[in-house]
Amino acid sequence: MSDSKITPALYVVGAGPGDPELITVKAYKILQRADVVLYDNLANKELLAITREDCEKIYVGKHPYGSYTPQEKIHELILEKARSKGTVVRLKGGDPYIFGRGFEEVLFARQHGLNTYYIPGITSMQASGLEDIPLTHRAVSEGIWAITGTKKDGSLSDDLRLAMQSNATVVIYMGMKKAEEIANTYQEAGSGNIPVAVVQHASLPHRKSATGQVKDLPQLIRENHLTHPALIIIGWVVGLELNA
Ligand code: SAH
Repeated sequence: MSDSKITPALYVVGAGPGDPELITVKAYKILQRADVVLYDNLANKELLAITREDCEKIYVGKHPYGSYTPQEKIHELILEKARSKGTVVRLKGGDPYIFGRGFEEVLFARQHGLNTYYIPGITSMQASGLEDIPLTHRAVSEGIWAITGTKKDGSLSDDLRLAMQSNATVVIYMGMKKAEEIANTYQEAGSGNIPVAVVQHASLPHRKSATGQVKDLPQLIRENHLTHPALIIIGWVVGLELNA
């Protein structure tokens, strides 16, 4: 086979929050066509069964004893595989452009002459609905702030202080190591009694969640043995069904 038949392309694809049935039809179809899939730890492995038998599947997530595959290595793989095989699918948990570095990969691929495509995914916070937590609710929450708990330098986003002053629902991604800081920030502002939910493995059969008041967030996490991957959802949308 001659290389001239190969059209190098990168598809950055959302794998959805966890439940493999929560991917889009478009994502399903491109997985069926993929020559190579580069997937990370939050993309459900069951989705790989959709691919052709000869599709090369490469894990580029966290390794058993610690470090993540460096972003430069992923960039290199995208180029190398797209040029040698054709259609590369970069499968990422949730939506690739929400705390997913997906757009960095698209920009890199474009700079190197690849055609790029983006297929949105259901982001994990949307799976909070499965725990009876709507992200907005009339007269209760007028908006949503999705915030990272772990910025590039490892710190919690300062936006939390701004978000706290609004009546929006606050959703913190990658925030489990910041529970203490989050609880203190609310407590200091006199808002420690706002309801909080921690939702782990949202949309998956082994999902777990717990609710309480934000001032008690560290205990809530400890006592319920909650751990990564989990979302912290703060606002009066939590526990609505109890007051209905
Ligand atoms: N692009 C992803 C987010 C990646 S950042 C998305 O759109 O969902 C990783 C963070 O996402 C985790 O630390 C956790 O806060 C959240 N997350 C991803 N999948 C999750 C799941 N199934 N349940 C709970 N939190 C999840």
